[in-house]
Amino acid sequence: MPLSNDSGVSLARIKEDFPVFHEYPGLVYLDNAATTHKPDTVINALVSFYTRENSNVHRAVHRLAERATVLFEDARRAVADFVNAVPEQVVFTKGTTESLNLLAYSLSLSEEFKTFIAPQFEHHSNFVPWQQMSRRFGREFIPLEINGAELELDTLERVISNRKNGFVLAVSGLTNSTGFKLPIRQVVDMVHKSGGIIVIDGAQLIPHEPFDFEDSMVDFLAFSAHKMLGPTGIGALVGKRELLERLPPFAFGGEMIDRVDLHDTTFASIPQKFEAGTPNIAGATGFLAAIDYLNGLNRTIVAEHIERLTSLCHEELSSIPGLRILSPEKSHGIVSFVHESVHPHDLAEFLSQNFDVAIRSGHHCAQPQMKGLGIRSSCRASFYIYNTVEDVEVLAKGIRNAVRWFG
Ligand code: PMP
Repeated sequence: MPLSNDSGVSLARIKEDFPVFHEYPGLVYLDNAATTHKPDTVINALVSFYTRENSNVHRAVHRLAERATVLFEDARRAVADFVNAVPEQVVFTKGTTESLNLLAYSLSLSEEFKTFIAPQFEHHSNFVPWQQMSRRFGREFIPLEINGAELELDTLERVISNRKNGFVLAVSGLTNSTGFKLPIRQVVDMVHKSGGIIVIDGAQLIPHEPFDFEDSMVDFLAFSAHKMLGPTGIGALVGKRELLERLPPFAFGGEMIDRVDLHDTTFASIPQKFEAGTPNIAGATGFLAAIDYLNGLNRTIVAEHIERLTSLCHEELSSIPGLRILSPEKSHGIVSFVHESVHPHDLAEFLSQNFDVAIRSGHHCAQPQMKGLGIRSSCRASFYIYNTVEDVEVLAKGIRNAVRWFG
């Protein structure tokens, strides 16, 4: 199958759109789960905003302010369209972490939800807020036990069935530590049948495959621009309209109010109710450019390309003696591993110094998951649209060399 996007541009040439690969032609960048590189259209959007439109939004009536406001709201519309939601359902945040903190705090203030549940494999961003808000507000917190890397639906069923009160299940659509993909439809049905609501941490999932918020029946979805070619410091919280309307705001300040009196305040409607203060306007224009770039590709072919690289990586690494793959057999975009005789940090450093390969080593902000796997840290290779078969081959060659060197 030709690896091409809708306009016929070869995926093999995608690297040309990314200035970092002109700067470092030999770079094999396999740390995409941490953050992705930016195409020149995204970088140019940021420069263009500060050159031509820089102004605050939703306030003044002068020309620049009006242009900045239009761009900012265009970005919101693009984010909404990207996941099939409507603009009022899209709250701009600093990123996934802030989206999840906002939710954990606001849902804690509601008497409706007495229990928060998060699987052991969650990124700390989707674990610690629920754990800590439970302690602070006297809610019950249930860390769902994980054997290996996958959520077993029987375990979930045991925990959520017969609950007397409303609960929140906060779970990743795709885990960052091993690339386990949640069977979202099944889990959503189970949660709703038991009277709960579901929050999907989409930090890894949304960059990788088309997602239909409306059709998914998910209650809330959080994701970050920087993991899908956009700038850092901006992301989104998407929510069901009636839930967003019911939730109290998280932060107070300018632009989130309706009327302020000396002793009380009423709040703006959604989504402004959750956007106190000057937002990341330049970031929103970069987010818009990133979505435009992704929309210009045939996303099904891109997803298949990444799947192919992931399974090739499984194949190559499983033939290296002493190497243990921690990811599920059918992981998505991510392969995590340890070697019995080389420490993950030594391996990552060796790969960078000798092969210009960038992988992540450490606990991947998922210490409970590492504990469950019986390790303290691991290596992680993660793929995105500009990676190639050669990148996987260089990784495998580099690991073989490292094993010989340290062995
Ligand atoms: N959840 C997951 C699954 C992630 O991979 C990450 C980032 N590694 C986050 C949450 C946090 O995202 P951010 O740092 O952009 O807020």
